[in-house]
Amino acid sequence: MQDISTQLIHHPYRAPADFEAPQQGVFKASTVVFPNVAAMRTREWKDKSAYTYGLHGTPTTFVLEERIATLEGGLQTVLVPSGLAAIANVALALLKTGDEVLIPDNAYGPNKTLAEGELAAFGITHQYYNPMDVADLAARITPRTKLVWLEAAGSVTMEMPDLIAQARLCRERGVVSALDNTWGAGLAFNAFDLDGHGLAVDLTAQAVTKYPSGGGDVLMGSVTTRDLGLHMKIKLTHMRLGLGVGGNDAEAVLRALPSIALRYHAQDKAARQLARWCLNQSAFAQVLHPALDGSPGHAHWRQLCGAADARGQGAAAGLFSVVVDARYTQAQVDAFCDALKLFKLGYSWGGPVSLVVPYELATMRNQGWPAHLAQGTVVRFATGLEAADDLQADLQQALAAALPG
Ligand SMILES: *Cc1c(COP(=O)(O)O)cnc(C)c1O
Repeated sequence: MQDISTQLIHHPYRAPADFEAPQQGVFKASTVVFPNVAAMRTREWKDKSAYTYGLHGTPTTFVLEERIATLEGGLQTVLVPSGLAAIANVALALLKTGDEVLIPDNAYGPNKTLAEGELAAFGITHQYYNPMDVADLAARITPRTKLVWLEAAGSVTMEMPDLIAQARLCRERGVVSALDNTWGAGLAFNAFDLDGHGLAVDLTAQAVTKYPSGGGDVLMGSVTTRDLGLHMKIKLTHMRLGLGVGGNDAEAVLRALPSIALRYHAQDKAARQLARWCLNQSAFAQVLHPALDGSPGHAHWRQLCGAADARGQGAAAGLFSVVVDARYTQAQVDAFCDALKLFKLGYSWGGPVSLVVPYELATMRNQGWPAHLAQGTVVRFATGLEAADDLQADLQQALAAALPG
């Protein structure tokens, strides 16, 4: 008779395999057990035909990868521990000493920080380009350019670039184009068919942290491709850097994914109601939301995202920014943010709680203050899932308290 501890670990019972339920079960593993040495020597994980080690995938992560690939309009996806890790995985897979990466001036800030830190230290150079001027991007592409980052809409200032022209330019010049698709989330437009005729970016990175998770409680990222060779480059770097994700996090995202379109469009609707209301508030010199007529790149948004929802309203993330009129001091703007009660101070977005962040834009743009922006302090709002009228009342009371007309 074996000891009880041995019996509990090596228990003979196997549950029947044909269990089916609405949600995918969560498999957690570092060690994966092989039936024999031959299997250990021959099993292949790179094509998802078998399992070898937790870092290389489990049924839970394989299923989530396939669903994110479908969401993005791609064919292959790798999951990484954060949206920023997705950006880093792409850069480290595709760039080597002597290469150059081009990044839009309104990119997600840490993408720039990575280029200025580790990439620069590895002898990889970078240039920032004007996201609203395709000719500026074209002029910066040289034989050393090996990666162009695209972002639509841009971070914080919400400019919608001419993504179709940018992707076409990269294709014509033979440079890999990588779209940070966190804003569009695979729902506002199809990054792998931008023009309805198959024009595609080469890869998308997404902060799964935002809309796919939807809970404000998971950090994860994804890199999606439609080219197997490019996918394998990303995947081998992913393996060498050890960027696997945990089963519980993957399961949380799988549970949230069926409602992503409902949440995306609900947060979009609320954000547009609030953005339109903000247009009429004299404290705000400018409201930045690509679906607003007059917001930078609005025509590009209509072209790219105008048909993306059934109501014919087009689609957008639940994000907008305001430029608080320059007649107010920084202390008054800070007091406005502090006075908000439903909008919490915090980074990220896509979760149930509405969020607000004041930004020091002058320190974030390398090409100077954008000509299309009014002077003042930029404040970004992200709508959660609270009722839009309650959020509007919150904005109104904070305005009255801190930014009197
Ligand atoms: C949040 C965000 C990221 C990074 O995601 P994390 O999971 O927080 O690392 C990358 N790109 C964009 C556009 C984002 O908004």
